[in-house]
Amino acid sequence: MGFWARMSRAEPQISHSKLLRFVSQPGKAAPHFDETRRLIKPRSDLVANTADYENLPLVTANGFREYDARWLFGKEINLLGIQSLGLGLGTYLHDIGVQPKVVTGHDFRSYSSSIKNALIIGLLQAGCEVHDIGLALSPVAYYAQFALDCPAVAMVTASHNENGWTGVKMGAQRPLTFGPDEINAIKKIVLEGLGKERPGGAYVSVTDMRETYLQAVTKGRKLSRPIKVIAACGNGTAGAFAPEALRRIGAEVIGMDDALDFTFPKYNPNPEDMEMLHAMSHAVKELGADLCLGFDGDGDRCGVVDDTGREIFADKIGVMLARGLSAEHKNAQFVVDVKSTGLYLTDPVLKANGVKTDYWKTGHSYIKRRTSELGALAGFEKSGHFFFNPPIGHGYDDGIVAGIQVLEMLDKAGGKKLSALYDALPKSWGSPTMAPYCPDDRKYAVVDAMVAEYAGLKDKGETLLGQKIVSVVTVNGVRVTLEDGTWGLVRASSNKPSLVVVVESPASEANMRAMFADLDGRLSKHPEVGEYDQKI
Ligand SMILES: [Zn+2]
Repeated sequence: MGFWARMSRAEPQISHSKLLRFVSQPGKAAPHFDETRRLIKPRSDLVANTADYENLPLVTANGFREYDARWLFGKEINLLGIQSLGLGLGTYLHDIGVQPKVVTGHDFRSYSSSIKNALIIGLLQAGCEVHDIGLALSPVAYYAQFALDCPAVAMVTASHNENGWTGVKMGAQRPLTFGPDEINAIKKIVLEGLGKERPGGAYVSVTDMRETYLQAVTKGRKLSRPIKVIAACGNGTAGAFAPEALRRIGAEVIGMDDALDFTFPKYNPNPEDMEMLHAMSHAVKELGADLCLGFDGDGDRCGVVDDTGREIFADKIGVMLARGLSAEHKNAQFVVDVKSTGLYLTDPVLKANGVKTDYWKTGHSYIKRRTSELGALAGFEKSGHFFFNPPIGHGYDDGIVAGIQVLEMLDKAGGKKLSALYDALPKSWGSPTMAPYCPDDRKYAVVDAMVAEYAGLKDKGETLLGQKIVSVVTVNGVRVTLEDGTWGLVRASSNKPSLVVVVESPASEANMRAMFADLDGRLSKHPEVGEYDQKI
């Protein structure tokens, strides 16, 4: 907190518009805006510690992922490459006719601030008005789009990825972030050197967005009792936001690794990884807390551990939240990703409340978009992204808003423990998300082969594990479901060189493991599939 206190003393109440505003000369096209000037195309083969690397942009194509952009900084992109990306994004905003006002922010890594500054130079080059909110979580940047009335966002973060990675989460239509079409359009502009310089760039430094955000997410929310919650931040950026937000709604908050440290001395802040989940579980038991909420590196995800130390995956938390929300909002629509539990279709409480649930493509951008398109009350993604539309949220993923929803659910449960709410769900056995290595340029072909195998089995009416195959959903990889509800999923990771494998059974642990053995056996026939990050 010291950082914020120092900053607010150093910059007392200066209005945004007076801060560091650089505006190019209106009406006068400076010579460097010569439209015939050809900009340099980024190269993909530059190496550090050479003259070219200092003078030319380096951008590799693989960094443009399905719905965001991630590179190994230094090896796959340099600062001039990041500047090209800023110019490309700014050019794209002009191309699509969006008012070129962009919120920028950066996560807490040793190099994120430099990367954001390079990105800003590119945006200014493109003639954008940049509103820089400084150190931030992704949801704080998304919130700032509303608060500052900026159509676009460019948040520099590699989320929970290892140090060395960088990335930018971008959007131009609140509350959505870009999908494949937009990313591909920007990729083309950047890689083909089609960025266009324009006059009109302006920089506005916004120094009070943390406080504005904290007030907004806690407004009108007060717990009836001081629920004892551990806020696990893994030394990531969330440490500067989450514990304070939870305190403001009346929780008794114990901060865990809430001091920012970009060396991530314990583990990467990722509440989907067993390492962080185990630490959260241990802390709950040791401190006798009601629950632990774990936040990822950029705060758009939240993981939950109950009072007994059990991890409850986000899809199950979603079912629990949906039970309460659907009691208050009749015939509520929800969206969940294909990695999620089958309970949304079978839970008797949700059925009685007339809930409709749509299983959609995994990925924060996809679920956010689908939740918005369907006007759903909420969307849940198993990796811990929660999307709440009004009246609860603004439609984007915010780990802190999600954590507050979990605390309010517990508050309304009349003294029941979180473990009791969890145990009240129909039993099922599920795996965590498992990721076997597979190169980026091979992973889609492997998944296609798996889709063909399972679709083929179903078409021929063959059995799997001695059961009939009832459905093969191919909206995103392949999700194969058997008669007893046991299902398995294989899809390609959208942001890492790996596959994603998930299995679940409402029948037995043995059936869940048998489904995994089947998937794993088929995958092992592909030599390009390597080691798993974790395995059941
Ligand atoms: Zn994240």
